[in-house]
Amino acid sequence: MPQATRNPTRSVRIGSLTVGAGNPIAIQSMCATKTSDVETTVAQIEHLVEAGADIIRVAVDTKADAEALAEIRKRTEANLSCDLQENYRLAADIAPVVDKIRYNPGHLYHHERSKPWQDKVKFLVDTAGANDCAMRVGVNCGSLDPAQREKYPKEDRINPMIDSALEHCELLDKLGFTRYVVSLKNSDPAAVVEANRTFAAKRPDVPLHLGVTEAGMPPEGVLKTQRAFELLIGAGIGDTIRVSLTVPAFDKQQEIAAGRKILNDIAAGRFVGMAAEGAEGLNIISCPSCSRVENSAFVDLAVKVREATRYAADHAISIAVMGCRVNGPGETDMTDLGLWCGPKYVNLKRGEATLGAFTYDEILPRLKEELDTLIAGKK
Ligand code: SF4
Repeated sequence: MPQATRNPTRSVRIGSLTVGAGNPIAIQSMCATKTSDVETTVAQIEHLVEAGADIIRVAVDTKADAEALAEIRKRTEANLSCDLQENYRLAADIAPVVDKIRYNPGHLYHHERSKPWQDKVKFLVDTAGANDCAMRVGVNCGSLDPAQREKYPKEDRINPMIDSALEHCELLDKLGFTRYVVSLKNSDPAAVVEANRTFAAKRPDVPLHLGVTEAGMPPEGVLKTQRAFELLIGAGIGDTIRVSLTVPAFDKQQEIAAGRKILNDIAAGRFVGMAAEGAEGLNIISCPSCSRVENSAFVDLAVKVREATRYAADHAISIAVMGCRVNGPGETDMTDLGLWCGPKYVNLKRGEATLGAFTYDEILPRLKEELDTLIAGKK
């Protein structure tokens, strides 16, 4: 496949880095340490910087996280992005110490419910603008804006993402804030390709952050991501990337190495992801974990799920393993079987139905029972 001309995106400065406008595609990762644990988070940031990370994201959910982030900022010069979830007002505390703020349109409904989301975005714009911060509108198929979701059939997880992203771009532009990037993430590489292609055709000026969310463990997670990136970057779409991998917190450098390798492969015309695409079989989706993970046994559990279900490799069944309640309940709705982890129990689901909560010791045999029933049903 010949190298395509990159989309003519705007340039967006994020700390010492500029993305878009033909700049090299930046590679990012996210800390999986507790943000309030300053020492460990700084150590993880340094590991990621050594591995070549251009931007590093840190989750902030509480005032204590925001205070810790101010301390972290004093100890690193890395380009820091802050991941906001439900409490958008925390932006006021963190904007002075980070280079970029990521918000998720689907999460703007949870706090101050009677307040229109447009007012919340205005608050974020004013805060980012006053503090020299860029922003990312991070749309995720597992936590869609409910108003966008209602417009389409329940199983359509692509069009609500695109409409949500376009709507936020329109508002940001109207507010005079253009220093932003957009991401449209899904755990299905084909959906990532479709959503980003459609968005880029409508807004070729907006820089895109590419990612397949909950891609899972290496090597499968890398191949899934590579398949999507080959089709997008090969078509000139994408200004920054993240490879989300389920790996232990201090192996997060693997995300940077995988991102670098994918970009090198694409530049050299090696289309490894597409070549690896085979017959539809068992698909394990698992989140990369972050500071919100509710039990550190999560990564271990994801590995055990993969091992324990290998016997079902030829069956077209999807199993999601998620680290917390933020995206866990939503993402598991879309898979045949889903596990989302709490501090002591793992919640087991079949589609949208919850089957119960089981201890970390009980969950694997229970999962296998459900898997066997599904396989028997398909026969
Ligand atoms: S599901 Fe939870 S733990 Fe996993 S990456 Fe998402 S927010 Fe972090």
